Amino acid sequence: MENEKKVGVYICHCGLNIAGTVDVAELAKYAATLPNVVISRDYRYMCSDPGQDLIKNDIKELGLNRVVVASCSPRMHELTFRKACQSAGLNPYLYEQANIREHCSWVHADKKQGTKKAKDLVRAAVQRVCYHEPLEVKEIPVNPNTLVVGGGIAGIEAALKLANGGHKVYLVEKEPSIGGHMIQLDTTFPTLDCSECIMTPKMSEVGHHPNIELLAYSEVEEVSGSVGNFKVKVKKKARYVDEGKCIGCGICEQKCPWKVPSEFEMGLGKRVAIYIPFAQAIPNVATIDKDHCVYIQSGGKKCGACIKFCEAGAIDFDQTDQIIELEVGAIILATGYDLLDPSQIPQYGYGRYDNVITALEFERMTCAAGPSSGKIQLKDGRVPQSAAIIHCVGSRDKNYREYCSKICCMYALKHAHHLREKINADVYEMYIDMRCTGDGYEEFYERVSAEGVVFIKGKVAEVTDRAITEEEKGKLVVVAEDTLLGRLVRIPVDMVILCPAMIPRADAGEVARMFSITQKATGFFLERHAKLEPQVSAMDGIFLAGCCQCPKDIPDSVSHGRAAAAAALEIIDRGSVVTEAAIACVDKTLCHGCGICEDICEFRAAKVILKGGRMISTVNEALCKGCGVCAVACPSGAMSIKHFTRDELSTMVKALAPVENG
Ligand code: FAD
Ligand code: SF4
Ligand code: SF4
Repeated sequence: MENEKKVGVYICHCGLNIAGTVDVAELAKYAATLPNVVISRDYRYMCSDPGQDLIKNDIKELGLNRVVVASCSPRMHELTFRKACQSAGLNPYLYEQANIREHCSWVHADKKQGTKKAKDLVRAAVQRVCYHEPLEVKEIPVNPNTLVVGGGIAGIEAALKLANGGHKVYLVEKEPSIGGHMIQLDTTFPTLDCSECIMTPKMSEVGHHPNIELLAYSEVEEVSGSVGNFKVKVKKKARYVDEGKCIGCGICEQKCPWKVPSEFEMGLGKRVAIYIPFAQAIPNVATIDKDHCVYIQSGGKKCGACIKFCEAGAIDFDQTDQIIELEVGAIILATGYDLLDPSQIPQYGYGRYDNVITALEFERMTCAAGPSSGKIQLKDGRVPQSAAIIHCVGSRDKNYREYCSKICCMYALKHAHHLREKINADVYEMYIDMRCTGDGYEEFYERVSAEGVVFIKGKVAEVTDRAITEEEKGKLVVVAEDTLLGRLVRIPVDMVILCPAMIPRADAGEVARMFSITQKATGFFLERHAKLEPQVSAMDGIFLAGCCQCPKDIPDSVSHGRAAAAAALEIIDRGSVVTEAAIACVDKTLCHGCGICEDICEFRAAKVILKGGRMISTVNEALCKGCGVCAVACPSGAMSIKHFTRDELSTMVKALAPVENG
């Protein structure tokens, strides 16, 4: 009989992961008694080749037309088993997975209860699989161009890998120059090589690469489309300087009268209203900060010095923001991180005491190209005799951020080294735990320890200028509990360096919404799988690189950037992507064209159009992700999701919660 259902059920032990809490033999025996089941087996690892072969052979030999595997989460192995079915000639959508690991064995301790629940889950899966219909995927061609958003080290690495592979890359950076945080650093741990020296050749390569179109001082405004075919609108902000004419000579900077704190120098130095953020900026062109430009603010009545002195004739006050439309097949987000503003933790005195500074400010201070030409100094110009470095400022703290920022222990050691080496200051590292887990990191800790740095384990309670001894007068006093000695310590120092938590960028929520990706509880972007796909977002075709996903040091950001490029290349080189088959579909006889589905669909797949004289909803198959939101919202029951039809879901509910006489 053509419609006869012949179901095969396969119970996985997952070693003892499942078999430890579920009686797999009894479960297999029970499954064999269910309607339509013609074979039921249990096996140690169903996902292994021999496990898959069991399924393939049964499909061929027993003529199975439905398969259920009871194992781990479908997120882990649905694709594996669908492929196994397909290779044996069965439509992959005639497959169902019962999750008896995450939903059962991992959350139950009692074997009897676990086995009972596993039986319920398998019964529901068997009933549902009988309603499955064969579905066909579609292949759509992929645009080979890629958009990289964010020009820090992670974005730069990703862009260069793709471009060197012969692919066109658009690199969008919101600041006037690429470089991100790395270009602000003085040296990098643990090798202490100059950050600029490593970074500037890469930046220059980006600037000159024939396959990279750099859109600096630009921001993405709108994203539509889906994997393989995204359409992106980028706003290129007006610099009021013609990038084609500016030769980066810097004469305008010398003539501009209006000085403001420099963002690049973390406020330790000044810039003028027309500025090139730092000497090796890419692109090396000037930008006019319209909020501080006298000419713009006076409506063209005052100043205009740059117009007069720019020999290249690059100043262009008529410039306006431009919208550039791009078409790309893949997107890599590499938008990086922010640092927690330590003034949120008032007991550390940041913003109240001049000589309490952040670690990033210290990076600029120690940098030979920085505002003090590398001189480590107090606000009044004196050289500090002593300094305390406070770790975990807002990290590993339930009141601020619970997670570890991962990099601070290491850069705190770097700062301690510079304080010892450059000015022979007494240095106190105030830490909770020392975490030095990278290649050569523990050795660096040993080296800095041997340089005479004092390590005090314990959380700092406060930084104060209230002296209680003669020695403390005129000093900042760091009050902490030394948990190793079990006593309160007061350490008078000249300078305090805070290591603030690495946090998601302030606009991370906005960026996540624009690209239809999700954030974790920490606010960083959520990866598809923390271990296996940390560079892939939940949205097909959108990848993650660097610290926008979680705190990382430079080596990890570089590796992540390259991994994201490899993931994008996988799509580009294949040349086509298959669309999801389990997507929404409209029952035209029921649709009233109310438009609720169009409003609610975050992938912009549902659209109400005029057809045959009436408004009716349609679904763009390339855009639909089958999330099911529209099906839930549709008041007339016209919208449903293939593979998740009402019949399929209600049969599962009935199987799980049978109603007497109902
Ligand atoms: P970022 O450097 O933050 O770059 C992100 C880029 O994206 C920026 O250019 C930003 O402007 C841009 N961007 C953001 N949002 C958008 C948007 N919406 N559109 C367009 N562009 C956008 N690591 C080490 O390995 N060694 C060290 O010695 C070291 N020292 C450190 C010292 C300090 C004080 C700190 C705070 C960090 C240190 N680090 C160190 C860590 C290092 O800074 C990071 O690992 C690295 O900068 C991460 O690079 P990224 O590209 O992910 O992010
Ligand atoms: Fe030089 Fe003119 Fe460019 Fe300023 S705008 S850096 S003056 S070329
Ligand atoms: Fe500076 Fe004057 Fe030019 Fe404005 S017009 S950027 S204030 S020099």
